[in-house]
Amino acid sequence: MKIAIAGAGAMGCSYGHMLKQAGNDVVLLDNWEDHVNKINESGLKVNEVGQEKVTYIKAYKPSDYHEKVDLVIVFTKSLQLNSFLQQIKHLLTEDTKVLCLLNGLGHIETLSQYTHKENIYMGVTVVTARFTNVNEPANVSFSSYGKTEIENVVSSKEAERFGKLIAQTINDSGLPCEFVDNIYWSIWRKACLNGCMNSLCTILDSNMLDLGKINNIEYIINSVIKEFAAIASTEGISLDIDEMTKFVMSFTAETFSGAKHFPSMHQDLIRNHRLTEVDYLNGYVSRRGKELNIPTPFNDLITVLVHGKEYLLQAK
Ligand code: NAD
Repeated sequence: MKIAIAGAGAMGCSYGHMLKQAGNDVVLLDNWEDHVNKINESGLKVNEVGQEKVTYIKAYKPSDYHEKVDLVIVFTKSLQLNSFLQQIKHLLTEDTKVLCLLNGLGHIETLSQYTHKENIYMGVTVVTARFTNVNEPANVSFSSYGKTEIENVVSSKEAERFGKLIAQTINDSGLPCEFVDNIYWSIWRKACLNGCMNSLCTILDSNMLDLGKINNIEYIINSVIKEFAAIASTEGISLDIDEMTKFVMSFTAETFSGAKHFPSMHQDLIRNHRLTEVDYLNGYVSRRGKELNIPTPFNDLITVLVHGKEYLLQAK
């Protein structure tokens, strides 16, 4: 399959590397010029679950690439999605499929401005990746072969056939991938987890273990989740608030091996002073709440505080 990865950050490079290694025709598209140049000059270094590898893969600035592809996998940060799609709209022909693996809510609306809904596939992944050294181009690491789930947005036999082909292609590359029938629920569940862990750990400058030890934090988390569930239900998604609270709290437990980790939003904002995806997590709930006349005071406050921290740290 001919695949363009649109947004070749830590995740895009990790998926690009795996898909290329498995024999697919893959190109990376990105706006970070030094990253693009270094990948073309000396290859992409990837620490693949502890193994050091180099993949020779072509990288381009989005506006410089014009070949027809079967599939575009978008992997920008949420706030870059619209402008990136604008830069690659020449690639989005009538039959080009687009798989979106970004975290967050509201992306279908953005994608639909550039392609038919019939071409859109949504997914979630539990792979975690990072640039091995911040600001060093062409060098990424990912630590596990986590599962990816995908599904088509519009129901049709053809969309299902191609969705299964995408899932098979990712799976064959060594990243387990399942074609599912409840992707919206998975997207909301992950957004809810991120809207609690990422945002609260960022505001409090805390890892997940310490967050869990804060007096009454379960009440706050439960209240955030109730608001996510209220908005999700308006989109036909049912989130079980008690189950979701237990799920989120399990990330703060001593028994969870990753509990001492700082979530990615913390790393982006507190460590690297980069803008966050809060508008696609708590900010989405807050915005939809206002539009639908549903009170979302906890998510309103969290959104303001994260943006406040972005302002104070002059995040870019
Ligand atoms: P990323 O920050 O690694 O890359 C996003 C974009 O920022 C890329 O275009 C990249 O080139 C650019 N960028 C990064 N560092 C830069 C620098 N120093 N200078 C200039 N440009 C730079 O983003 P990501 O972690 O790959 O995340 C992409 C999407 O996947 C997001 O929606 C994220 O929430 C989601 N996601 C990430 C992970 C993870 O573990 N990283 C896991 C699941 C989902």
